[in-house]
Amino acid sequence: MSLPTRRSWAEPFKIKMVEPVRMTSREDRERAIRQAGYNTFLLRSADVYIDLLTDSGTSAMSDRQWAGMMLGDEAYAGSANFFHLEEAILRYYGYKYIIPTHQGRGAEHLISKILIRPGHVIPGNMYFTTTRLHQELAGGRFVDVIIREAHDPASTHPFKGNFDLEKLEDLIRKVGEKNIPYVSLATSVNMAGGQPISMANLRGLRELTAKYGIRIIHDATRVAENAYFIQQREPGYASRSTASIIHEICSYTDGATMSAKKDALVNIGGFLALNEPELFEEARNLVVVYEGLHTYGGLAGRDMEAMAIGIAESVEDDHIRARVGQVQYLGEKMMSYDVPIVVPIGGHGVFVDAKRFLPHLTQTVYPAQALAAAVYLDSGVRTMERGIVSAGRDKETGCDHTPELELVRFTVPRRVYTQAHMDVVAESAAFVYAQRDKIRGLRMTYEPRYLRFFQARFEEL
Ligand SMILES: *Cc1c(COP(=O)(O)O)cnc(C)c1O
Repeated sequence: MSLPTRRSWAEPFKIKMVEPVRMTSREDRERAIRQAGYNTFLLRSADVYIDLLTDSGTSAMSDRQWAGMMLGDEAYAGSANFFHLEEAILRYYGYKYIIPTHQGRGAEHLISKILIRPGHVIPGNMYFTTTRLHQELAGGRFVDVIIREAHDPASTHPFKGNFDLEKLEDLIRKVGEKNIPYVSLATSVNMAGGQPISMANLRGLRELTAKYGIRIIHDATRVAENAYFIQQREPGYASRSTASIIHEICSYTDGATMSAKKDALVNIGGFLALNEPELFEEARNLVVVYEGLHTYGGLAGRDMEAMAIGIAESVEDDHIRARVGQVQYLGEKMMSYDVPIVVPIGGHGVFVDAKRFLPHLTQTVYPAQALAAAVYLDSGVRTMERGIVSAGRDKETGCDHTPELELVRFTVPRRVYTQAHMDVVAESAAFVYAQRDKIRGLRMTYEPRYLRFFQARFEEL
């Protein structure tokens, strides 16, 4: 008998409660996707078998978090849970002042209103849908200054979330630092495929922005996943804990918006964090208009408690290794079936390259949207489009943005699915790939004014 050639590791948890899922028939799915206008956002979750639409708010909470829910202090003002949340944010991220919000976009709304004036320019490492929209609604214009490699799905650059610091400095010189209220920094760049920024690049960004007196506002939604990649890939960080890397990342920034529905392992919640007392005062004034009192921001006390506990769990090395490890497993399995995906595999999902998957479809017939529908039809696996539909229209010209990346995101919820689920997903992707010639493009029949990808409807051509 020979010994195994490797020592496997497994998830650092065991399952205590289960939620049954239902497999549907091909006819069921044909009816469902047609009724949903070929938009996976419009499917009912009861018609979905394995739900990889998003990692947002879809995590499984721990027994400790559920216990925390029972300790909700539902006082209107000064809830004990608010102070626990404040302590957790100071301890794990290092930000001094915090405002809870109902989710990430609530925080984006507040900071955009406070800092952006008409004519302002906000540079960032690739746009995010809600972030850019709030910047535009406040009168600003987002300018992408991510490195070129981020737009190339085949580039194996280890830190495709990096800023092109030369491009940024050129932009600052061109528009003037007075017209740049802050640089919008995302850790684990979602739209690039969950790609991290390196600490070296971030330090460079801090030096450059300090020279011109410009703030860095950090979209910390997936900071733990970014920190894990730094630990794995960046020289000098291999023996550092994820927690200490997160702390260092945040130390180079002036504030953060957070959708706690992702890394922080809760089903709802977010916050705005700041280090400047004047900005905090302004945010505290505004939050009562749009979210709720400054000590609950649209959340129940129990939600803030679950968030405080979730933040602590999210920075544990065992947790993050298993979380990102599962995504890597899915990506490697898809690659073994030759399915074209964005490399390196990201932190929160596997991004399939619809341009290479469906070379017979032009971007004008929404290849990624069509592919997401095809995967659903094959197996009941729900994914989402991250391409021309998500990119929306240019604020000034009204024309479609035409992003170089035309992707379908297979997003993995945290602590929810097993390795066997990942096998089913990869097999379905392979099966659809084998029949890719049969996939037809789509025509948009309904286009909402804002964030059209959520509610747009389509027909098959
Ligand atoms: C989800 C997300 C947001 C918005 O957060 P919500 O909680 O959905 O409002 C902002 N930035 C990034 C990178 C996200 O992934």
